[in-house]
Order: sequence, then C-alpha cells, then structure tokens
Amino acid sequence: RTVYVNGEYLAEDQATVSIFDRGFLMGDAVYEVCAVLEGRLVDTPGHFARLRRSMTALSMPETLDNDELLHVHQELVRRNALREGLVYLQLSRGVADRDFAYPGSETPPTLVLFTQAKAVIDSPLAHRGAHVITQPDLRWGRRDIKTVQLLYPSMAKMAARAAGADDAWLVENGLVTEGSSSNAFIVTRDGRLVTRELSSDILHGITRAAVLRLARDVGLVIEERAFTPEEACMAQEAFMTSATSMVTAVVSIDGQALGDGRPGAVAARLRTLYIEESLRQAE
Ligand code: PMP
Repeated sequence: RTVYVNGEYLAEDQATVSIFDRGFLMGDAVYEVCAVLEGRLVDTPGHFARLRRSMTALSMPETLDNDELLHVHQELVRRNALREGLVYLQLSRGVADRDFAYPGSETPPTLVLFTQAKAVIDSPLAHRGAHVITQPDLRWGRRDIKTVQLLYPSMAKMAARAAGADDAWLVENGLVTEGSSSNAFIVTRDGRLVTRELSSDILHGITRAAVLRLARDVGLVIEERAFTPEEACMAQEAFMTSATSMVTAVVSIDGQALGDGRPGAVAARLRTLYIEESLRQAE
C-alpha cells in the first residue's frame, strides 16, 4: 500500500511517525473515516466539516485545507487502485517532549492517511443483520469529538464477541447513547424512527445525518430522543449507521429477537437509499 505522511506518499513499510508523537503518547489526535465506493469518496464535505469541528474543540493547529485534503484522499485511492473500502485520516498535535500541557502552536501537527479495502455494499453482516448486546457507556464526556481514544469501545466490542454477539450498544443512565462505532436507531411498532438527539454524549455521525435526511424525504416520522434498552428490545426494528457499515440492521438485542428476527424493511429501504445517494454523490 501507498500511504500519506505529512506531505509525502510512501510505501507503508517506509512510513514512520516519531515515538514522541502526542497521538501515540497521549491519544492527542483526531480522525475521520470516509467510505470509498466504485473508487470514489462518499460525503467528504461532511467528514471534513466534522474534522474541523474536532480540531477546534481541541485547539489543534491548522492543517491542509479541504481541497488539499480531498486531493490527498483521491490520490491515495488512485495510487492504491482502491475500488471499495475506506480512507482513514489521523491528525495529531505532533511531536513534543511528553507533557500534559499542549506544545506551542509552532509545533507542526502529524497528518497520516491510508486506505483499507473492505466490502461495504455487499457486507455479510448487513445481509444477516447484527446481534448486539448492551454495555455500560464508560467513555469520557466529549464523545462528540472524534478522538483516537478508542480503548473503551474496543473493550465493549470484545465483550460483545465474548457473548457471541457482533457489537455493543452503550447505555448511560438507563438510556442508549450509541453503538461502539455507530449511531443507534430503532423503528417503533407504529413506524416512527427514533435516534438519540445530538449532544456531547454521542458522536455526530455523518451517516446518521444523511439517513435522517433520506428518512424525512420519504415521509418517515422522526423522533430525535433517547430510548431505553427495554424500548429497543420491544421495537419493530433496529439498525446502526456508520460510514463503512452504512445502514446495518440489528436483529437481536441482549439475546432478544426484534420483529421476526430478520433485517427489517425500514432498515433495508434506508440502506438502499443511502447506497444509491452515495453512489450518485461520490467524488
Ligand atoms: N458513533 C461512534 C462512537 C463512532 O465511532 C462512529 C464511527 N466512527 C459513528 C458513531 C458513526 O459516525 P459516521 O457515520 O460519521 O461514520
């Protein structure tokens, strides 16, 4: 693979980052993941806007502008002949002596991008639907900033695996926040679409926003509010959204089957609409 590090395109085994990088030492880095379909990138404006938001929240110094970022993304897709998968971007505050205080703004950030091939449209999990378990949400309080502090979501995912499930939905104060790496939705028995409102308790998913817009366009009633695991278990359907899983149906929660135990119709419809729109808009 060809990867990108601070202005250079390199073979992956030639690419290096300092052991003093604050991303490595302090988790002082933000990231984005853009899906690639048919060799083109999905919703880069949304991902770049969220990257700026994360950078502002952490007072990170400027990096490439959006046109330059798009160029690097497209160049990596081209050089790696990537048809379907993702481009990962990570921006850290750069290299400095270890200190909790941020280094001065003269310290250049570290920007790394790489591609990863993955079946996005024809994903096996989307076909059969995901089994999820609930886990306490023990993450920090600024989940709206997309940082690389991903240890707790990894632990939650491993707990799901250990329980024979695919993923975890996180619960705080008796309410579902989101999935370990996705936003969580339910469809009530009378057909309303429910997903938690935006706040610092969840990541503001780019796919979440697109799916809500598509759902509104087709006339679904939308309620942006928190829901309990009990309400989710009683729902007609559930699904989760993320850039590379798009819309993935959830077929059971804590061992309790939803609806008829197969991916639901609303999830399937929204997945199709989202894929169609992404293919139309990708660049
Ligand atoms: N929530 C969390 C915690 C995530 O890690 C992700 C994916 N990175 C999402 C939601 C979905 O965000 P997006 O649709 O922008 O990929």
